[in-house]
Amino acid sequence: MNEFELIHRFFSRPPADGTVRLGVGDDAAVVMPTPGHELLLAIDTMAEGRHFFADVPPATLGHKILAVNLSDMAAMGAVPRWALLSGTLPNSDPDWLAAFSEGLFALAKRYDVSLVGGDTVRGPCSFTLTIVGEAPAGEALTRAGAQPDDDLWVSGTLGDAALALAAIQNRITLNPATLAVLRTHLETPEPRVALGLKLRRLAHAALDISDGLMGDLGHILNASDVGAEIELPLLPCHPSLTALLNGAERPLALHCLLSGGDDYELCFTAPPAARDALIALSNELALPLTRIGAITATPGFTVFDEQHHPLPALPAAYDHFPNGTPP
Ligand code: ADP
Ligand code: MG
Repeated sequence: MNEFELIHRFFSRPPADGTVRLGVGDDAAVVMPTPGHELLLAIDTMAEGRHFFADVPPATLGHKILAVNLSDMAAMGAVPRWALLSGTLPNSDPDWLAAFSEGLFALAKRYDVSLVGGDTVRGPCSFTLTIVGEAPAGEALTRAGAQPDDDLWVSGTLGDAALALAAIQNRITLNPATLAVLRTHLETPEPRVALGLKLRRLAHAALDISDGLMGDLGHILNASDVGAEIELPLLPCHPSLTALLNGAERPLALHCLLSGGDDYELCFTAPPAARDALIALSNELALPLTRIGAITATPGFTVFDEQHHPLPALPAAYDHFPNGTPP
């Protein structure tokens, strides 16, 4: 199978809708944006050894490279539309590629996203996906705009993916049924696209939590020039994480909850007047939305523990280049 057979067989599918005038097969794709809308563009890379293990099930990898990009669209309140995929592959194993592309296209289909092009080269396994989405002009949600006295909210549960990773790496033992559940959050996260679209009318600021609540919330606070106070007991998490929080593994549990990566939940701020609408929205989407604290005028943030004492040192967020990694 040569490069072009590979592209044709695994990455060429009919587009999701009539917005694609030209997809895979020419030098560039041609798409038709909706009049009156702005385009939103994001890109994410996943590299073997850094973001996934060599033995990861390929279908989950195909899902995840798209899911993390859809999550960026969700955070901005955008409708995801078109994607470009750059794959660096060590070989052209047809079974592996078939499973990868199944995982990718199954998720793409659910969100009406068209894969309109890409690039395929040989090398150490890594995938980069570019997503393009749309939002009505001027309406995209951003990290700026949080206001003092806004409520601070998160969707879903926090720390599931980090806890699964800790178990896979034998840093902690979980019962197999629990690990199986948490593992799906790590390997096949569900992007909160429907939530993001509804938040356009309700939230002041939003982002998706890819690198842990503390680090990512810091981005909202910086962009909005505000601070925050968070109540640890309010943070939504899996019961097994709550149990660890109350035992000898508390440091690991705190790390998962506050700075664990790969959750892909949305964190957003909204005025207290939006509470009822957000509770209704949570029911409508069958997705937990939890108020975890509030925005303050004073910069910086504090996490209060169960006794309402400020937590001393906050675990740091993941950083690919901590303190300027030397060359
Ligand atoms: P070019 O030489 O013009 O860069 P390529 O030969 O790399 O184009 O790719 C041929 C066609 O296949 C292009 O339309 C490109 O967008 C598409 N393509 C290549 N790799 C992928 C991929 N992994 N997924 C989707 N489309 C791809
Ligand atoms: Mg060309």
